[in-house]
Amino acid sequence: KKVVYSAIQPSGSLTIGNYLGALSNFSDLQEEYQCIYCVANMHAITVPQNPADLRKRTLDLIALYVACGIDPEKSILYIQSQVPEHTELAWVLNTITSIGQLNRMTQFKDKSKKQKEVYAGLLNYPVLMVADILLYQSAFVPVGEDQRQHIELTRDIAERFNTRYSPTFTIPDIMAPKVGAKIMGLQDPTSKMSKSDPDENGFILILDEPDVIRRKIKRAVTDSKGTIAYTDEQPGVKNLLDIYSSFKHISPEEALREFESAGYGELKEAVAEAVVEGLAPVQERFHAIRGDKEQLEAICRDGAEKASYLAQKTLRKVYRKVGLVQF
Ligand code: ATP
Ligand code: MG
Repeated sequence: KKVVYSAIQPSGSLTIGNYLGALSNFSDLQEEYQCIYCVANMHAITVPQNPADLRKRTLDLIALYVACGIDPEKSILYIQSQVPEHTELAWVLNTITSIGQLNRMTQFKDKSKKQKEVYAGLLNYPVLMVADILLYQSAFVPVGEDQRQHIELTRDIAERFNTRYSPTFTIPDIMAPKVGAKIMGLQDPTSKMSKSDPDENGFILILDEPDVIRRKIKRAVTDSKGTIAYTDEQPGVKNLLDIYSSFKHISPEEALREFESAGYGELKEAVAEAVVEGLAPVQERFHAIRGDKEQLEAICRDGAEKASYLAQKTLRKVYRKVGLVQF
């Protein structure tokens, strides 16, 4: 079976951007592929985190994966920091990654603007992500559009290593959904929705209560045109249509037909109901699972063991080729 790999950071509570761009697509892949899903807590610490919150959100995320249909018997589900091979491979890959290329990463530019002090970990973030993916000889990486540049970098570095030494890594491809691959912020529809946004009206959380969802969508920024169209000139309206069509499993064009003669108020109400309805079963399963700490920990231990076994196979090859002594 080909390997599918994806990771999500416990850097905040998950948004519907994370859900539509990534998480909601994961469970369907489990039959056809060997799926490996990670809670990227080593990535999360590239910006300041509160330790207690980080610990709690790490287990929240494991529970959310399960609530979204990830079956730990079929897929490997684990926490990044419990598999030390990630940072070991990242170090080796750092030695063949140019600083110039890292400086050009748009995520680095966006995130560093928001930091008082920019630490080396934020610049090196993509190299750790490259290691995550390459360790498992992944063929496909289901992520949102915002990660496309990092996947390109992964291919570059893998090819560089394969050429400099000898064929070692599988070259992965991005697997982005047709609709919902880039959900925009509700307060600023020109930048992507992010769980680390300080303005909580900008995002909807997967675990938000129905009334909170309705309120946030009601406040979503639109425009003064007053007509509904699916165009980049009306990013707020376009985003609402994207959210609606993703939750309804229809195309944006079909969604547009439903609302052609509607006003913004009517559109927003329909979007809110689609989101509330779409998230209800996930929320229910999450609350049922989250309380069972022992079971969640058992899932993590088992997942880390399986992941580590696969990761070591790749890492041993890499060390041998590079000339790092192993006894
Ligand atoms: P942070 O702001 O801390 O980076 P994030 O919301 O960007 O958080 P990540 O953990 O970086 O979340 O990304 C997890 C997954 O969610 C990735 O596959 C990413 O591409 C996807 N994703 C993130 N934001 C969006 C979005 N607005 N629309 C669609 N997919 C998204
Ligand atoms: Mg992100």
